[in-house]
Amino acid sequence: MHETSLVYNVVDIVLNQAENCEVERVTGVHLTIGRLRDISESIFEGMFERLTRDTIAEGAELVISRPPIMLRCKSCGYVFHFDAHDEATHRCPACQDKNYAIHSGLEFLVGGIEASPRKEPQSIQHGRCT
Ligand SMILES: [Zn+2]
Repeated sequence: MHETSLVYNVVDIVLNQAENCEVERVTGVHLTIGRLRDISESIFEGMFERLTRDTIAEGAELVISRPPIMLRCKSCGYVFHFDAHDEATHRCPACQDKNYAIHSGLEFLVGGIEASPRKEPQSIQHGRCT
């Protein structure tokens, strides 16, 4: 299951950024995963939930967006939408060529993290927040 390493990466990024920004709680994580990435969203969500347990990201909502697959025609440069189940999209609509490169659909990135900020310290004792 290749979701495993990807989820580990995401959790790493989220916890690192949360730590850098000293947030108290991560409440939401936005992910962009291109449709060319063969990923089961339910497996992904389940693993995210498990890996964030007992961290400040526990219970955070995972929002996954799946941008469509776009191809760029090598003959005329036209960028068009590709649907594996629709034969009509398997050639360039502008020049009918079948010679194309992947334009987008392989994205994998953490788009944004929602968090609640750290509360003011209750008191400071000998220079330390408590
Ligand atoms: Zn073309």
